[in-house]
Amino acid sequence: MGFGSAGLTFFDPVARALIEADASAEIKERTHTKEAPMTIAVDFDGVIHAYSRGWHDGSIYDPPLPGALEGLRALMQHDAVFVFTSRNTEQVANWLFEQGEFNITWEPPGETNCEFWNDRDRILITNRKLPATAYLDDRAVRFANWDQALADLLPAGN
Ligand SMILES: [Mg+2]
Repeated sequence: MGFGSAGLTFFDPVARALIEADASAEIKERTHTKEAPMTIAVDFDGVIHAYSRGWHDGSIYDPPLPGALEGLRALMQHDAVFVFTSRNTEQVANWLFEQGEFNITWEPPGETNCEFWNDRDRILITNRKLPATAYLDDRAVRFANWDQALADLLPAGN
């Protein structure tokens, strides 16, 4: 229980073997099925922290959103979960531990401790966008193609 800075060497033997074997996309797809654990990236502000006043003074001032702590635990039952945030990672780690006593590891800003996150026993807090099966984010626009993306993002008529 508790925290520790991630001094970890990450190694996903399945992913590594597929890469080393130069496996086709089809084989990779078949190997990483829905039943296999995934890595889920979870945004912090607006998804875990309610963030009702935006950045405000930089503090984490709100309680968790309803269902957030339970949701993280539910995901961790099956998948590896990391939280990606532009905030100070230690600040987020402290807050999340106070809220839910999660087993937490954080990457100090500028430090790179792993290439992948596949640990289901603890949450990683990082500033980096690591590879993930899904990104849960309140500001995301799902990309399908550039026509759709521009239609979603630009004012009408552009
Ligand atoms: Mg957000």
